[in-house]
Amino acid sequence: MNNCSWCNLTDEDRKYLLYENQYWSVYLADEQDYVGRCIVVSRRHCASLAELDSTEWESLRTVIQMVEGCLKEVLGADVCNWSCLMNDFYKTSEPDPHLHMHCRPRFGKPVIINGNEYTDEEFGHHYAPRKKTQLQDADRESLFAILKQRFGT
Ligand SMILES: [Zn+2]
Repeated sequence: MNNCSWCNLTDEDRKYLLYENQYWSVYLADEQDYVGRCIVVSRRHCASLAELDSTEWESLRTVIQMVEGCLKEVLGADVCNWSCLMNDFYKTSEPDPHLHMHCRPRFGKPVIINGNEYTDEEFGHHYAPRKKTQLQDADRESLFAILKQRFGT
């Protein structure tokens, strides 16, 4: 746990924090391959979904509702693709996973930020796992400001 990067985030890492409660943190992901992609991270060093207690599950449900509601309302997402993969942790001989989930909003219509249009080319299909980040830096800052305000933190 001492070497866990999720347990030792720097202020810089936490720059894109959108929301936090007692159990979960929500970040705008570094990778904006799908506009509005977020990461929900357990605040406890917990290895898997199976290890969550009922209070954490209940809180997660609320967080998922908030995230989806926000992405649908602010960006017009049609659906959100959630994934809990954890594969990177298992590239080492002594895996010490820290539970987090990715949320990729999916869009049937282009998203427009500051006049720039972003299209979800794979809409209706599985997300592309190695898609290049497409969101421009200035648009990412605008998106973060809008989402942060919507989360009310
Ligand atoms: Zn951790």
